[in-house]
Amino acid sequence: MKAAVLHALKQPLRMEEMPRPQPGPGELLLRVRACGVCHSDLHVAEGDWEALRKITRLPVIPGHEIAGVVEAAGEGVTSFQPGDRAGLPWLYSTCGECEYCLGGREPLCARQQITGVTVDGGYAEFVKAPASHVIRIPAALSFADAAPLFCAGLTVFRALNQADPRPGQSVAVFGAGGLGHLAIQLAKARGCEVTAVDLADDKLELARECGAGSLINSAAGAKLPRVDLAVVCAGSVPAYQSAISSLRRGGTLVVVGMPADPIPISAIKLVGGELRIISSAVGTRAELRQLLELAAQGAVRCRVATRRLEEAPHVLEEMSGGRITGRVVLEP
Ligand SMILES: [Zn+2]
Ligand SMILES: [Zn+2]
Repeated sequence: MKAAVLHALKQPLRMEEMPRPQPGPGELLLRVRACGVCHSDLHVAEGDWEALRKITRLPVIPGHEIAGVVEAAGEGVTSFQPGDRAGLPWLYSTCGECEYCLGGREPLCARQQITGVTVDGGYAEFVKAPASHVIRIPAALSFADAAPLFCAGLTVFRALNQADPRPGQSVAVFGAGGLGHLAIQLAKARGCEVTAVDLADDKLELARECGAGSLINSAAGAKLPRVDLAVVCAGSVPAYQSAISSLRRGGTLVVVGMPADPIPISAIKLVGGELRIISSAVGTRAELRQLLELAAQGAVRCRVATRRLEEAPHVLEEMSGGRITGRVVLEP
């Protein structure tokens, strides 16, 4: 099969011919139809995040936003049949027995395997995975539309779930790009009033299309409204500073975007306003199923641009040069 392979950190991916994986007992072989390119893929390839650098298995096939079709089922698999539409997220497997797995917080499992990091992912024609962590894709969703929901969508979905705003509450989304435009749609779906904040007018236009009721270009120095929830999808410290200052008393900061530098937060301001800080790491399988169902009903749709799998090395290079806007999905 064709695959894009990372052989060493900070090196470009190489397109190669690899043996097709064989599904073992309890595993499925998926024929990849679409695989989203996530910013984490670039950070993994560059070795930017220490926690991941230590566990990245090399060589590895990256990619953890996988949508495809079951090609073959290993011994003992009864939950899927060849031909079923299904995908695979960041969480390749979890132990199923630790306090986090049992307590509905499986993204925190210390014995997890990570797709495209500790095991081969979806920048390939085929990928194998434990049937327990493969998720069905509703018929109403195309593969390209489904793929980015497996990480980008799931991450903001869980973040909002954790913060749990009530209908009618005000939400500001800082950064209306790949994650932000999904956060806007999901906040709308919860019945919230959404303000989008960005530096770029084209991103604000996308935010408007996604249902944001008010748009703020922070480059123009416009005054921010006071909100119950500030969801920061931009990986920028100034965005966090604006977000914290936009919170009403009792408000919640939702941490999604990851700047390399620490976020300065005043304890006095936190205490004075009884502010909460919420974060989330991808999401659970149950949340992914809920999100795919919401998307099948039309409540959320990721804007994607499709490219051929062979272009994977080039796409990561463009991403590292900041030349990618929106979500790229690779198609074998
Ligand atoms: Zn991701
Ligand atoms: Zn566990």
